[in-house]
Amino acid sequence: MQKKMLIFLGSPGSGKGSLSQLCFRREGWQQLSTGNLCREHIVNKTEIGKTIDFAMKSGKLISDSLIISMVADWLRNNGSKHDTIILDGFPRTVEQAAALRELLLQPDFKGMKLILVRINVSDKIVHERLTGRTICQNNKCQVVYSIHPGSELGPMQEMVCDVCTSPLIRRQDDNARAIDERLQQYHKHETDLVNFYNSVDEKIIEINGEVPLEAVYDNLIKQLGTQNA
Ligand code: AMP
Repeated sequence: MQKKMLIFLGSPGSGKGSLSQLCFRREGWQQLSTGNLCREHIVNKTEIGKTIDFAMKSGKLISDSLIISMVADWLRNNGSKHDTIILDGFPRTVEQAAALRELLLQPDFKGMKLILVRINVSDKIVHERLTGRTICQNNKCQVVYSIHPGSELGPMQEMVCDVCTSPLIRRQDDNARAIDERLQQYHKHETDLVNFYNSVDEKIIEINGEVPLEAVYDNLIKQLGTQNA
């Protein structure tokens, strides 16, 4: 079976994490969320955690060199164990995209197919979603939920994770000011990132992220099927 690396591009709140988690449950695809990695460092109060805490809370990006070394470490330890890997939230800059291309030249990743997927959601919907988002406080779980009444992402029991029964919490960067900063950061880098992938002839699969998660998932699977045909 050909190994694949799926890269989920899209603004904060576009549903990259929820889609990754659904792909993991349905398809068993391994997921690396760089945001989750960063939050783990902060909760565990590591040296890296102390360095990135302020930037993360205020919605700024972590330095390219630090995030690239975190991803490189993760890939070295986990990359060759899985047939399909999803990168959720990496790369976010051209520097990161170029570093990833270099990493994928290593023998462990020989023949791995890169598939880029961009999930498109308007900034207005992002604001609505993120102001109602909760996540599982267990840093090994971090499943995403919504407190909006009637949302498909509502937990079965109020403020309790369906998967591991830990309490749900609000993310520190899901406040109006940090959301604006994160959207600004996203838009600042998005065009350059797309231009970079165009320049190296990597096609981007475009997905509408404003529909229910099941429909986003179905669209992804359909488009991946078309690619393999
Ligand atoms: P996320 O969970 O993907 O929304 O990421 C939350 C935060 O983690 C971001 O606002 C950044 O502070 C940091 N972060 C995650 N991935 C990256 C990345 N690829 N480059 C820089 N910072 C990142």
